[in-house]
Amino acid sequence: MDAQTELLQQLRAQNVRFVRFIWCDNANVIRAKAVHVAFIEAYLAGEGVGIAAAQQALPVMYDALAPGSGLTPAGEVHMRADWSTLAALPYAPGHARVLTDIYDGDQPWAHCPRGFLRRMIARAAQHGLAMFAAFENEFSLLCPSEKGPQPFDDTVFCQTSALDQATAVLNDITDALAAQGVQVEMVYAESGPGQFELPVRYADALRAADQQIIFRETVKAVARQHGLVASFVPKIYPNKAGNGAHLHFSLWREGRSLVTEPDKPHVLTAEMRAFMAGVLHHLPALMALTTPSTNSFKRIRPRFWSGAYTCWGIGNREAALRAPQPPAGKPITNIELKTSDATANPYLALGALIAAGLDGIERGMTLGEPVNGDPADLSDAEREARGIRRLPATLGEAIHALENDAVLLDALGEGLARSYLAVRRAEWEAMKDMPHEQEVALLLERY
Ligand code: GLU
Ligand code: MG
Repeated sequence: MDAQTELLQQLRAQNVRFVRFIWCDNANVIRAKAVHVAFIEAYLAGEGVGIAAAQQALPVMYDALAPGSGLTPAGEVHMRADWSTLAALPYAPGHARVLTDIYDGDQPWAHCPRGFLRRMIARAAQHGLAMFAAFENEFSLLCPSEKGPQPFDDTVFCQTSALDQATAVLNDITDALAAQGVQVEMVYAESGPGQFELPVRYADALRAADQQIIFRETVKAVARQHGLVASFVPKIYPNKAGNGAHLHFSLWREGRSLVTEPDKPHVLTAEMRAFMAGVLHHLPALMALTTPSTNSFKRIRPRFWSGAYTCWGIGNREAALRAPQPPAGKPITNIELKTSDATANPYLALGALIAAGLDGIERGMTLGEPVNGDPADLSDAEREARGIRRLPATLGEAIHALENDAVLLDALGEGLARSYLAVRRAEWEAMKDMPHEQEVALLLERY
């Protein structure tokens, strides 16, 4: 039996009526057109589902084109399924979903985020490098009420009673993820009201970004089945802990981790250090892709463990780049970028991270000394002497940094850089002075 017939049989056996063709746009909204199985054969054979090219010009607020995107209402591109990602949806009986790459005719479309990440993975491969990664998400559970959504609980970090209250929904999320091949590693209550964290197993970079889409979709849908709202909005409650999606990554060559020296478990390799230096160098601009909403910048504040300064540290939760401190005698396995949240399109975030890090390797950038302790406690002079800068405080500043970052712009390519910046500028203009409650209400269901 050929692969297509097998897929078709699989869909019929699972009683699937619709297959959702999923894409995630420049505003990081996850969207789908669902094809009825009666018509799926042509798509199995490679035909794509059409969408307007203008989809990549839509900001988060509404379905209207951002000015200056270079895209117009004329023009059609096609989503081609990556059938290796097909899965029936445990939370939507009769529906399956597949992740897609967008094509312009028979060429990958310049504005396709998944295509961008594929290009950056290929660029790393030219250096003989592969990246493994995982997004470590925090999210808030809320209960709908007449007064608007209220926090699910009021517990503190790792308080067990939060797990007792949320056992059913957390178990169902975990099972639904497992059914789609995403393995939850741990669960605990985070510091904020109704806030939880569910780290998942790492995977190669493309799969890690795919997992982030699957994770967000599943958490929101399963919570809804429990009569709850789950939201990844970075800062829902102005003075409580925010929701990060810390980006954990490691570099590999020929199946061997390049994070530390083989016989020195605490010594980062020269390549890893240069990669990290590249990330820190480009971080102000990179933030326009890893923390790209107006709301994101309310989370990135000193003393909230969200990485507000360009520095790195071992086991330091106030450093933008943290090397998680391993148990005695064990190697450091990965590096964590804290300046990342789930309002980021994961393909763009991960692709741009790779581009920034590779620039560090190509230009032989030097990583400074690790910072122990809170960089906010250093004097301005000390920070200056050590090259520690405060990261952008608003989306406007991050957009400005990206507009001036030739390396990241070149990596994105002319078309994607233009449409992406147009979307973010439109969001900044529309939302920079929006009252907090209104901003959260707008974003709560999008992310
Ligand atoms: N909630 C913190 C953030 O906004 C992170 C807390 C932690 O897990 O270290 O990134
Ligand atoms: Mg956490």
